[in-house]
Amino acid sequence: MQNKFERNKLLINAVIKAFEKRNFNAFYCENKEDVIKKITELTKPTETFSWGGSVTLDETGLKDYLIKNNYNVIDRAKASTPEEKRKLILEGLCADNFLMSANAISYDGELVNIDGHGNRIAALCYGPKKVFVIAGVNKIEKTLDDAIKRARTKAAPINAKRVSSVFKVDTPCIKTGICADCKSETSICSDILITRLSFPKGRINVLLVNGDFGY
Ligand code: SF4
Repeated sequence: MQNKFERNKLLINAVIKAFEKRNFNAFYCENKEDVIKKITELTKPTETFSWGGSVTLDETGLKDYLIKNNYNVIDRAKASTPEEKRKLILEGLCADNFLMSANAISYDGELVNIDGHGNRIAALCYGPKKVFVIAGVNKIEKTLDDAIKRARTKAAPINAKRVSSVFKVDTPCIKTGICADCKSETSICSDILITRLSFPKGRINVLLVNGDFGY
């Protein structure tokens, strides 16, 4: 166990250097408590916070922390109508801080994300003043191709299953667990985004956690 932890720490620190060469800020987090500490250090409670759907944000307790401590959050889960939800999602694109995870990360410091609706990757590309990507070491893959493969064949079918309890999702992967490269109207894989640089420098902050979080 200790060997795995030490090896993962070395891997994360190597990937941090790769992110820094690509104009990202990147940080090592020992555990989920460290994630909350780092976010509170890098932001101000008076700033606005929004987020994309993410099991990692739930598992680290970050979302709960911000809500319980009365941070200024824009939470689309509070919407009671589709119109209100859309309004909150659009407000989230103008937030000071946007929180999300990544579906996969390459050793060379590239982010890979897949969206059905596109609001999460829209915020990653442009809008919020700062973006914080929180990801467990389990999201790191050797090459960009490996990262895309992970996002498409591992993360996406599980995420399709996850969101099927909330949205109508009728895709082959729901039934088989295997991506069939579907063209379903309810596919959660409309957009695949590779983020190879942070622009402006330091806008995207990556927090890599020494543990497994999300899918
Ligand atoms: S089957 Fe469709 S929804 Fe499921 S992972 Fe593949 S492309 Fe995405």
